[in-house]
Amino acid sequence: MNDTSNRPILVLGAGIAGLTAALEAAETGRFVVLVEKNPWVGGRVAAFHQYFPKLCPPSCGLEINIRRLERNPRIRLLTGTRLAGAERIEGGWRVILTRAPRWVTDRCTACGECTAACPVEIPNPFDQGMGTVKAIHRPHAQSWPERFVMERDACRQGCHACADACEYGAIDLAAEATTEELEVGSVVVATGWEPYPLEKLPELGGGVLPDVISNVQMERLAHPGGPTGGRILRPSDGAPPRRVAFVQCAGSRDVNHLAYCSGVCCLASLKEALYVREQLPGAEIAIYYIDRRTPGRNEDFLEKVAGTEGIRLVKGKVGKVLAADGGLELVVEDVEAGRRLHERADLVVLATGMVPSAGDLPLPVELDEDGFVLDDPASGVVPAGVVHRPQEVASVVRDATGASARAMAMAGGRA
Ligand SMILES: Cc1cc2nc3c(=O)[nH]c(=O)nc-3n(C[C@H](O)[C@H](O)[C@H](O)COP(=O)(O)OP(=O)(O)OC[C@H]3O[C@@H](n4cnc5c(N)ncnc54)[C@H](O)[C@@H]3O)c2cc1C
Repeated sequence: MNDTSNRPILVLGAGIAGLTAALEAAETGRFVVLVEKNPWVGGRVAAFHQYFPKLCPPSCGLEINIRRLERNPRIRLLTGTRLAGAERIEGGWRVILTRAPRWVTDRCTACGECTAACPVEIPNPFDQGMGTVKAIHRPHAQSWPERFVMERDACRQGCHACADACEYGAIDLAAEATTEELEVGSVVVATGWEPYPLEKLPELGGGVLPDVISNVQMERLAHPGGPTGGRILRPSDGAPPRRVAFVQCAGSRDVNHLAYCSGVCCLASLKEALYVREQLPGAEIAIYYIDRRTPGRNEDFLEKVAGTEGIRLVKGKVGKVLAADGGLELVVEDVEAGRRLHERADLVVLATGMVPSAGDLPLPVELDEDGFVLDDPASGVVPAGVVHRPQEVASVVRDATGASARAMAMAGGRA
C-alpha cells in the first residue's frame, strides 16, 4: 500500500483565513503548500486602514503572521499561482498548479529604480482604481514577499526601460508561466471574497456619480498609503466633504442583488464614520440603515459610535442617490414615520457586501444558494473564512483554525 501520510495539505488563498490555516497545520508539524493568486499575501485586510472594534491597523497582525510564515520551513508559499485542475486519488488529491510569470526575480531588492524609469501609468489596482501607479511597482508599502510586480499587459511594445534601470538584473522580460503537478492529502479553500461591484448599483449613483464610493474605497481613502495620502477628499474635486452619508445594505438583503447580509457592513460603516469624525471634526455624518446588526461584543462599539457627536444614525432605506446642485441628494424611505426624506451629502459611501470567490475553482465543492462553500466531510475539501460564510476577522481566525484541524484529520497519517 502507498504511504500517503506525508502528503502536504494544500491551502488555497493566503488571506487571513489561509494564512491561519497554513500556520496552524505547519506549526503542528504538517507540510503545507500555500497557494495565492496575488503576488503578495494578506488578502483584503491588507488594504484596510483600521480594524473594528479596536481600531488598530491590520498591518500589525499581518506582520506577525508573515514572521511566523518566514520562520516555518514546513510551508511552501507559491504566490501568483492558481489551481488549474484537481483529481481525487486514494487518500487525497492530485492537483495541477499554474504559476504566472512575475517578470521580477528574487534578485529584486525593492530599490524602486525600475519604477522611476517606467514610462507607463495605470489605475492602481490596490487602491480600487483610485490614483495611478507605474506598470512596474511595489503592490503596497508593506507587501510581502518584498518584490516588485509588473503589469506586463500595460507595457509599451518593445519597452525595456525597467530592465535597463535595474542594476541587480532582477527583471526577466522573457519569463513564462510554469505548471506543476503534486499530490496532497486534503485541500483548504480560503479564497475569500470580492466586493459587490459598485457599477451594479447605478440607482444609488454607483459607477455613475464620482462622489459615490464603496466602503472598500473608503478604506483606501483613509489609509496613509492610499491615493490621497490618507486625506478623505471628494473624488470629483479633491475638496474635503462637509456632509458624508453612509448607505447601509447597498445591494445586500435584496433579491435583485445579494439576498444575504454580509454581517460586517454595519460595523465597517461605524468604523469609517469614525475615520471621518477624526479627520474632519466639522463634517456632518449620517448612517442610513434598515437594521443595526452588530452582534455580541460589537454592540459596545455601536453604542460608542452612536454616542459620538456629529454622527446621526437614521433608520431608513435609501432608494436613490441623485446629483443635485453640485452635491448629492439621497431619497430615503423612513418606514417607521411613513414618509420620504430628501437628504443632502457631498460624499456617499455605499456599504456593499462581500461576494464569495469560489465560483471558478476547479474542485467539486458544493455551494449554497448564495455561493458560499458548504461543509462536506466526505469531499476532502474544507472551507475556511469568508468563502465559507460572511464573517469578521476574529471569527475567520477561529474558523480557519478549525478548518486546519479537519484538513489534517482528512489527510490522515501523522505530523
Ligand atoms: C468594507 C469592509 C471593512 C471591513 N473591516 C473589517 C474590520 O475592521 N474588522 C474585521 O474583523 N473585519 C472586517 N471586514 C471583514 C474582513 O474583510 C474579512 O473577514 C476578511 O477579509 C476575510 O479574510 P479571508 O482570508 O476569508 O478572505 P480574503 O481577505 O478575501 O483573502 C482571500 C485570499 O485568497 C486569494 N484568492 C482568491 N481566489 C484565489 C484562487 N483561486 N487561488 C488562490 N488564491 C486565491 C485572494 O487573493 C486573497 O489573498 C471588513 C469587510 C469589509 C467589506
